[in-house]
Amino acid sequence: MENRLMPVVPLRSISVLPGMILNFDVVRPGGVAAIEAAMKGDRIALLVTQKNPTVDKPEAGDLYRIGTVTLIKQVIKMPGNSVRVIAEGKQRGELISLDVSEECYYGTVDVKEEQEEQIPESKALAMHRLLHEKLEAYVAANPMLNKDLARQLLADKPLGMLLAQTVVQVPMTTGQHQILLEADTLDERFDALISILSSETEVSQIKKSINDKVKTKVDKSQRDYILREQIKSIREELGETDTNPDADEYSKKAEELDAPQEVKERIAKEIARFKSIYGSSAEAAVARGYIETLLALPWNKADEEICDLKKAEEILNRDHYGLNKVKDRILEFLAVRALTDKGDSPIICLVGPPGTGKTSIAKSVAEALEKKYVRICLGGVRDEAEIRGHRRTYVGALPGRIIAGLKDAGVKNPLMLLDEIDKMSRDYKGDTGSAMLEVLDAEQNSHFVDHYVEIPVDLSEVMFICTANTTETIPRPLIDRMEIIEVNSYTLNEKMHIAKEHLFAKQLSHNGLTADNLEISEEALKLIITGYTREAGVRGLERKLGEIARKAAKKILENGGDRSLKLNVTEDNLTDYLGVVKYLPDEAKSESCVGVARGLAWTSAGGDTLSVEVGVMPGKGTFEITGNLGDVMKESAKTGISFIRSVSVGYGIAEDFFEKHDLHIHIPEGAVPKDGPSAGITMATAMLSAVTGSKVRGNVAMTGEITLRGRVLPVGGLKEKILAAKTAGIDTVLIPSKNRKDIEELDEEVTSGISVRYVSDMKEVLAEALEN
Ligand code: ADP
Repeated sequence: MENRLMPVVPLRSISVLPGMILNFDVVRPGGVAAIEAAMKGDRIALLVTQKNPTVDKPEAGDLYRIGTVTLIKQVIKMPGNSVRVIAEGKQRGELISLDVSEECYYGTVDVKEEQEEQIPESKALAMHRLLHEKLEAYVAANPMLNKDLARQLLADKPLGMLLAQTVVQVPMTTGQHQILLEADTLDERFDALISILSSETEVSQIKKSINDKVKTKVDKSQRDYILREQIKSIREELGETDTNPDADEYSKKAEELDAPQEVKERIAKEIARFKSIYGSSAEAAVARGYIETLLALPWNKADEEICDLKKAEEILNRDHYGLNKVKDRILEFLAVRALTDKGDSPIICLVGPPGTGKTSIAKSVAEALEKKYVRICLGGVRDEAEIRGHRRTYVGALPGRIIAGLKDAGVKNPLMLLDEIDKMSRDYKGDTGSAMLEVLDAEQNSHFVDHYVEIPVDLSEVMFICTANTTETIPRPLIDRMEIIEVNSYTLNEKMHIAKEHLFAKQLSHNGLTADNLEISEEALKLIITGYTREAGVRGLERKLGEIARKAAKKILENGGDRSLKLNVTEDNLTDYLGVVKYLPDEAKSESCVGVARGLAWTSAGGDTLSVEVGVMPGKGTFEITGNLGDVMKESAKTGISFIRSVSVGYGIAEDFFEKHDLHIHIPEGAVPKDGPSAGITMATAMLSAVTGSKVRGNVAMTGEITLRGRVLPVGGLKEKILAAKTAGIDTVLIPSKNRKDIEELDEEVTSGISVRYVSDMKEVLAEALEN
């Protein structure tokens, strides 16, 4: 033990341990003076740490008792009277007394010599292992530790060396250094070191786990932020800077929209979603379409209901000639509708051949009721989705036609014309009929769900009018909800009136002409109807008149655009306008022949005549039917044959005739499908004629169902049939007696020029039809 007087350098916040080489600045004059004093002597000074670093001029009590006797290796003078020192800690030194003078600190220091302590080998081994373990844990918990240092610490070396290096190398606080410095024995120092290492390791671990937690949180938000920024810059780079600018406009519209709360909420949700999608993506296009559809639908918007029957009648009469029965039924319907709850009224269905004014009547009704008019064409609709929409998950999904129609109308109570409802069909893609039922059924249509829209839409205030050519193909449940109004074919006279009073004027104005430019004579008009068109309605006629008007317009222009030019279309110059006559009267066919009888048929396009041909040839009694006939018609032919066989003896036919002959029935135009029972008596007549060899009168045509006993049953479509007979140049028609009232109801014009014979059994038919 040795007491020495030496300069004392107080340190604020560092400490030097024996074995450490340290580089630090000394700023305070007392410290600088002490260094200088040491340099003048043997360069030894005691470096001792202050207990409180903020004390500027520490007294003896402000310093720790133990410091380090240090060799000052190098001093560099720095600007501002400070010095930079490189010092090497040598031994521990205890400050016995301190002399604090103005210039320099001097102290009496007990320099502690390091004694070689003898530790039993096993203990040394245990200590070594423990320290090594602690160091490993410490290094593991501090991944930021200098790699070289970590390697150096963990290298295999004797305990003393390990201990000394650890003390020097492991970063510690001044307080920890001080604890180590103050440990007198190796044991004490070892314990202090282990506890410091343990607590440092623990702190590092806790720090790390807190750090990890915070980091994952920060990481995620930071990652999102960075990705978003990246997308933004990529878009900018691509010149796609829009980020759904429509969203605000939609929000504004949604606020102004008059719709139920549920709808508004849904729209708001969709807009919020829309905002977060990139403007030109496919997803945005889907969202935009959907939002626009929802915004465009008339949720609560309705026109005022007006029902002025007088006005309705005026408009119907203004636009349509004739059709008195139809007009009456429509007016009755409107009256009932005005008096009752609208939801309960049935749906009008106008049934009749093409071109008879069904669509045009519906349009007039809309005008009369001042309703918005939308026409939905159902012809050829096979897919249920066309009515009920596609789900939005499909590419290019759209709302169904009903919703699209409602959107076009812009109000929830328009008049919706469901055109050609009989042409709807079903296939594997679903049942169009039942979808339509949901639309038309008053019980269900107040919340009709379209797959695209998804929110129920109220159709109960829509006024539906349907049109069809025939009721045969309309599903039964739909018919049950409809009020069928038949629109019949027009007679020649009716067509003349319609042409003169409506169609001609319409075509003139369509083609920029006036009545002063073009006139059609009565005879010419008649020739157009009989020679150039063959139809139940007036669509072809209208087209022909349009053709004439166009040719006339051209002629006027060719003539220098002289508006005062007046063209007259007559029977003689009609071919200039329409070419040669297309249909000649069927005079030739009225010759009488054996085995050929003329029937009258009703088709969805109007009436027609059809001839039944029967051939008899020697054979084995077989029976053949050709001509694309339906089952009902085939059975009707068989019934006819059985009847003929049962009465053949009375007509002088040999008993074994049917065993030795084959019979072939053919109905020409084999490509056209035919069905129904109304050709029953015609087929039977042709057969008997063929079998007996007596001729069927050429001027006679017939219609009626036959029974096995030869009775004649009533049939439908008489107006069309009689008009067809007239067109075919027939003058006598055989009609079932039970149809008498139907014939009597017809306009005189229809039956004029035709002799109607009522028949109630085959005997009467044969008496009228066969020549004797
Ligand atoms: P549909 O719907 O029955 O097939 P449209 O209503 O399209 O027939 O009629 C075809 C054309 O004939 C329309 O221009 C219509 O105005 C006209 N038309 C039909 N019937 C009449 C009529 N009774 N009076 C006046 N024009 C008529």
